[in-house]
Amino acid sequence: MKKLAIIGGGISGLSLAYLLQDNFEVSVFEKEKWGGKAYTQRVDDYLFEEGVNGFLSNQPKTLELCESIGITPIKANENSKKRYIYDDKLIEIPTKPIKFLTSPIMSLKGKLRILMEFFVEPICDREESVKDFAIRRLGKEFYEKMMIPMLAGIYASTPEITSMNAAFPKLKKVECEYGSLFKGMIKLKRGGEPSGELHSFNFGMSEMIDALKRATKATFEKKEIKDIEDLNGFDKIVVATESFNAAKILKRYKKLSDLLEKIKFNPVAIVGLDYENIKPVGFGILTIKEKALGILMDKYIFPNRNGIRVMLGGARFPEIKDMNENEIIDLAIREVEKITGAKNPKITWCKLHKKAIANYSLGHQKLVDEIFEESEKEGIYLHGNSYKGISFNDCIKNSYELAQKIIRES
Ligand SMILES: Cc1cc2nc3c(=O)[nH]c(=O)nc-3n(C[C@H](O)[C@H](O)[C@H](O)COP(=O)(O)OP(=O)(O)OC[C@H]3O[C@@H](n4cnc5c(N)ncnc54)[C@H](O)[C@@H]3O)c2cc1C
Repeated sequence: MKKLAIIGGGISGLSLAYLLQDNFEVSVFEKEKWGGKAYTQRVDDYLFEEGVNGFLSNQPKTLELCESIGITPIKANENSKKRYIYDDKLIEIPTKPIKFLTSPIMSLKGKLRILMEFFVEPICDREESVKDFAIRRLGKEFYEKMMIPMLAGIYASTPEITSMNAAFPKLKKVECEYGSLFKGMIKLKRGGEPSGELHSFNFGMSEMIDALKRATKATFEKKEIKDIEDLNGFDKIVVATESFNAAKILKRYKKLSDLLEKIKFNPVAIVGLDYENIKPVGFGILTIKEKALGILMDKYIFPNRNGIRVMLGGARFPEIKDMNENEIIDLAIREVEKITGAKNPKITWCKLHKKAIANYSLGHQKLVDEIFEESEKEGIYLHGNSYKGISFNDCIKNSYELAQKIIRES
């Protein structure tokens, strides 16, 4: 049987190993923690996710993988449908069009401007920033009140530097296929509600990582691969690390390595805290200008969580990467008090990712095309959330596609 090496034991590398176990003799190398950004930390009675919190059920491949490895995801509590924005005060985000009309979240003028979206001409022949797209289609107020916090929550980024085409390709597709987002949503019968429901596992995302490893016939080795040459003897190699680590592993291919270095990452700190009866009860709070990009009310979302988590930093406050753990925790406590009024947490925990999430900047798709063209020339497969989709679901969907490609090409 041919030998396949996968560098990187995050969800991308592990799901790919599972899918190729019958076609290759697979070895997976991981330098730190199995799961990568999908890692659940247990602290006393608390479970704190170091990265991904859960996934939406609108990606069939994730559910297919769960079923195939014999684990059952759990659905988030009903409470978690309530989401808030902090704009010097807490405002619930309306999920139904009728509630939106009466919500204080935006002025009447801003709401009327959103309705004009039906009549805005699509732009399909060039790339746009998220900021330009949001202002053009939905107005300045929507951009300021909704898009800035949303982008911080998903990408830890800011809309002016992020490419709409790379970060939200599905929305761009709806714009171009239907001429307007609203027309598209009506045709797709989504009524404006987020598609899919949030899921995780009873004991956190690590449950899936452990199950994947158990279900995979492969060699799992804790080892940092410093140079691709260390893997002589393998027929195929997949680099499923973050792009900046791939650049180091592939440094002997100068052009490829230089291109990989161009993908920039935003830092994020996650602080786990717990307070008696903290409000609001719901999924969490996104902010518009605070150093805390958001607060996730984990204890109200899934069982066995008990605490809350504060996300700080991102492109809005990159200085977070130079702060020490105590400074970060103190900042998180001050931010929670300002936003919710809660004081004196019962527990504190912190994880700083100096390079947490790839920034899908303007030019990202073109850069990724160049990177993939170059890696194909060198006979190396690249995989992971730095390139073609940032979410947990994207990683799994891309594993299914890559597994097919590798089988075809072997
Ligand atoms: C704070 C945070 C919150 C998030 N929240 C969500 C969310 O709510 N929903 C969602 O869908 N997604 C979320 N994400 C994104 C999601 O976590 C990622 O898309 C996904 O987990 C990435 O998986 P991956 O395998 O591609 O990369 P990673 O998980 O980064 O795995 C790469 C692995 O490669 C290893 N590695 C690197 N270099 C080497 C080397 N030289 N040798 C050996 N091993 C090496 C690393 O140690 C790492 O384990 C979040 C991410 C972060 C950081």
